[in-house]
Amino acid sequence: MDGRNILVTGGAGFIGSALVRYLIRETAERVCVVDKLTYAGNLESLAEVSGSDRFRFERADICDRAELDRIFSEFRPDAVMHLAAESHVDRSIDAPGDFIRTNIVGTYTLLEAARNYWSGLPAGARERFRFHHISTDEVFGDLKDSDGFFREDTPYMPSSPYSASKASSDHLVRAWFRTFGMPTLVTNCSNNYGPRQFPEKLIPLMILSALDDKPLPVYGDGAQVRDWLYVEDHARALHLAVTRGVPGETYNIGGHNTKSNLQVVHTLCGLLDELSPRRDGRSRREQVVFVADRPGHDLRYAIDAAKIQRELGWTPRESFESGLRKTVEWYLAERAGWCRRVLDGSCRLERLGLGGG
Ligand code: NAD
Repeated sequence: MDGRNILVTGGAGFIGSALVRYLIRETAERVCVVDKLTYAGNLESLAEVSGSDRFRFERADICDRAELDRIFSEFRPDAVMHLAAESHVDRSIDAPGDFIRTNIVGTYTLLEAARNYWSGLPAGARERFRFHHISTDEVFGDLKDSDGFFREDTPYMPSSPYSASKASSDHLVRAWFRTFGMPTLVTNCSNNYGPRQFPEKLIPLMILSALDDKPLPVYGDGAQVRDWLYVEDHARALHLAVTRGVPGETYNIGGHNTKSNLQVVHTLCGLLDELSPRRDGRSRREQVVFVADRPGHDLRYAIDAAKIQRELGWTPRESFESGLRKTVEWYLAERAGWCRRVLDGSCRLERLGLGGG
């Protein structure tokens, strides 16, 4: 099945760029990235693949139907992997509007552009076409049971504007399968971490704040439990799902790696104490401060990834310890480079000679 045309939305973001680098490096697929380049999109994360003749980039908003129609008819995708989203829970609490627009209206607009293109394909190509929505475990809400796991049939109970908007888009994607017969599938993944994550998310925020000798703000008592997956393991799972996954199905993806936020922060402090000790020799744990909890904060997420393991043969390869070490080393090396440029915005435009104003 290699050598298809795959349209990747949100391919300049954290997970999208890891996926695109994986597709170009490890497969024969041709990739067209569609990305609006919001604050979270960064062409520098695609620099490694920009010279490939199997890669192209389109700066476009997934809410822009005319642009999507043009891109579908020019690129003629065999599959769509849809990652474009507003993705930061705290931002969704401060200003939900962009989340409703991109995650719900944008997904609807993309589904309709895809359906219009798909319905004009010859029968065989119509069957082989895939629309893969990349979603989150946050749609399931809180796990009340401290030993429980989210399964593919766990009822949706989203808590934040972000997770509610992703839940809505999951439902739309499933409805386009059930109602129109378009071959869609959904994957719901736990928290990702790794290099090139925008420094507003827990792990890069803590690393950079620690190195700047700033306080390390932990919500509530830090007891919130999340399942952590190294982003490259996610990229490999996504390619398997779009290649071998069954239309109409959902696959949960997770690392079987549950940690409380405080455990994550303490592990990061230990790594930084070793790799970049403070001048005064004190532990970075002393920088931890507890701040008022996020409203609606879910206490525990944990993924049961048995189905994707059983049916598609996927298991994560990276351990949390080695993945976190690699991540810390990358941020240490890129603190004055990639990190500075994403934070001051200077990296988003004019890379690859694309993007513009
Ligand atoms: P990200 O915020 O790093 O990247 C999102 C990308 O989408 C950016 O490149 C941005 O420019 C682009 N984008 C935003 N609005 C757009 C629009 N209207 N049109 C076109 N492009 C637009 O996000 P991420 O962490 O890489 O997450 C990618 C996807 O995976 C999201 O759908 C997210 O919900 C899902 N997900 C993320 C995680 C995680 O831990 N980060 C876990 C599970 C699922």
